[in-house]
Amino acid sequence: MRIGVFGGTFDPVHIGHLAVAVAARHALALDRVLLVVANVPWQKAGTRPLTPAEDRYAVVDAAVADLDGIEASRIELDRGGPSYTVETLEALRADGHPDLFLVLGADAAANLHTWVRADDVPALAELVVVPRPGSAPPAGMRTLDVPHLDVSSSDLRARVVDGRPLDVLVPAAALRLIRERGLYAG
Ligand code: ATP
Ligand code: MG
Repeated sequence: MRIGVFGGTFDPVHIGHLAVAVAARHALALDRVLLVVANVPWQKAGTRPLTPAEDRYAVVDAAVADLDGIEASRIELDRGGPSYTVETLEALRADGHPDLFLVLGADAAANLHTWVRADDVPALAELVVVPRPGSAPPAGMRTLDVPHLDVSSSDLRARVVDGRPLDVLVPAAALRLIRERGLYAG
């Protein structure tokens, strides 16, 4: 079983994340791509209000419902506490999944050295970077060809505040859930 691990805060998930997951699954011949929702994104906590992890997870789950082989993962929610990718990779391996591919946007890849136990990560998963407008992928890292979509959760949150639509940028089922739960209401 070849598994892609694509972690994030997903606050909220958007078309950029989904395009990455679909492209990675195809290009790397992955059986499954896990969108691993951070429980406590410790590098973001305290810098801005975060949507509760269970809500972020539910919205990701709705967003991937129609996508073959792409799944929302609650592994970091169930573990609790701050979310360290190294621990997630170790848990997946301990669960019998040694064939892991860690998918990172270019900005996340450039930031990898600041992660907890960053030096342990390359031995646990093959690192794969996807381009992201505004960030150069680190030299020497395997890079995937993905449409460059200049979309971010930060920009989407700003759009909601002044009433601009998120249609298409967030899949319809996920957007319905956002409305039902009154998330990002500003
Ligand atoms: P925020 O603006 O709140 O930081 P974000 O859009 O960057 O949100 P994250 O949850 O921080 O989303 O990112 C999760 C992962 O998805 C990271 O590896 C990030 O680089 C990647 N990513 C996010 N948006 C894109 C995009 N448009 N294209 C490629 N990769 C992306
Ligand atoms: Mg980000």
